[in-house]
Amino acid sequence: MHNDPHFDFTASLEKALADPQLGENFKNAMTGLRGKRLAIFPDADELAKLRATGKAVKARALSKLPELLVRLEANCVKNGIRVHWAQTGEEANAMILDILRAHGATRLVKGKSMASEETGLNHYLEKHDVEALETDLGEFIIQLDGETPSHIIVPAVHKNKKQVAETFHRHLPGAPYTEDVQELNAMARKTLREKFRTAHAGLSGVNFAVAETGTLVLVENEGNGRMCTHVPPVHIALMGIDKVVENLSDLPPLLRLLTGSATGQLMTTYLNCITSPRREGEKDGPKEVHLVLLDNGRTRLFADPQLSAGLRCIRCGACMNNCPVYVRVGGHAYGSVYPGPIGSVLTPQFEGIDAKGDLAGASSLCGACEEVCPVLIPLAEHLRRIRAEGQGCPDTCHVRGCGSKRTLAETLAWKAWAFLESNPWLRERLLRLAGLLGDRIPAVGPLKAWTSARTTPKLAPKSLRQLVREEGIRHE
Ligand code: SF4
Repeated sequence: MHNDPHFDFTASLEKALADPQLGENFKNAMTGLRGKRLAIFPDADELAKLRATGKAVKARALSKLPELLVRLEANCVKNGIRVHWAQTGEEANAMILDILRAHGATRLVKGKSMASEETGLNHYLEKHDVEALETDLGEFIIQLDGETPSHIIVPAVHKNKKQVAETFHRHLPGAPYTEDVQELNAMARKTLREKFRTAHAGLSGVNFAVAETGTLVLVENEGNGRMCTHVPPVHIALMGIDKVVENLSDLPPLLRLLTGSATGQLMTTYLNCITSPRREGEKDGPKEVHLVLLDNGRTRLFADPQLSAGLRCIRCGACMNNCPVYVRVGGHAYGSVYPGPIGSVLTPQFEGIDAKGDLAGASSLCGACEEVCPVLIPLAEHLRRIRAEGQGCPDTCHVRGCGSKRTLAETLAWKAWAFLESNPWLRERLLRLAGLLGDRIPAVGPLKAWTSARTTPKLAPKSLRQLVREEGIRHE
């Protein structure tokens, strides 16, 4: 589904809207997540201060991004972690495959990693005869069905209990059909335990990386992340370069904001802080740890003073849970790795406005996303900017595909407008002529689509200039 050049966003939205079960699943799940977030942050003033701190911490890290990445690398290397730099998703995939091949590894267990969704790692490894098994329960469920995540925190949220029961019954050998959640969990656990035990390598994402100490921080609730990073002999961490923070003391506010905004938890169940491979005398842990630093378009965002704020995102998913469009259509409808408001801001920048600029239109600009974003990203402002860049000028803009949405008809319309504005005599006469049309504007061409959901504009019989003149006001 992702990066599909033939992806039709309008058709995808229509398909999602026509699925009442999907709408019900999302409505229930998002209502639950919103309620949990509200309950965990009961004090509005305290939350406001915490969000301001979160923003400041991430903004400071971004302001020193190149320097912090170099420090992170130096400290990781000092701790025995091998660091690799990947400019693109393809490069990251190839590096990971090289590491696996160097160890003869053909079985990889994966903790949750949105960066690996970005690079399409699973398909890539599959093509090179490496089994990459998702071990986060939600990711495990959707991998069985050959699907992609529909939410960045709860990837199988589009499925209800019955649908999960059907998936397990269909794909897990000998699994009986049951809707008992405990039994379903036990089935997944049994399958995954064996995979952890026999995996040649483990891969995880990184929530935050601390430059000061070279520590990779991983937040999770199921323990699968700890299994992936500690049981196999090799651990590969894949991380977007925007995840670096300066100091260990930066973590507490970010962790509080992330867990509270994502799942309404005071603290995550498992907090993994990985600073080195297994040391002499230690009983567990991988013998080798690799960190792959992924750019994949982030430095382009970093170069734009306004849009670089999107790199503050800590991937909590709260903007999705509160977006009326996302809640109605779900994540798959967006056809991108990152759905919802932040996806509609980031994806057109990563993949180009020509390919994914339409996503920015899937918003009422109500601002509900901004109201909950823990790091105060002005999402509505960014959505407006992406929309504008679709019509904008490639010479003055960093965004890929800028100006690609400007059609010939629009170009001609703006030229005609400019011509009329510089010819007041003609403009006046045409306005008078148009005024005679009143509400008889024909709904044809682009006007037809525009007026299908809006009131047809009605032209005033007289222009303001005419009225002013008739009132006898001079020097209007
Ligand atoms: S944009 Fe804000 S609310 Fe949305 S996922 Fe990122 S941090 Fe969370």
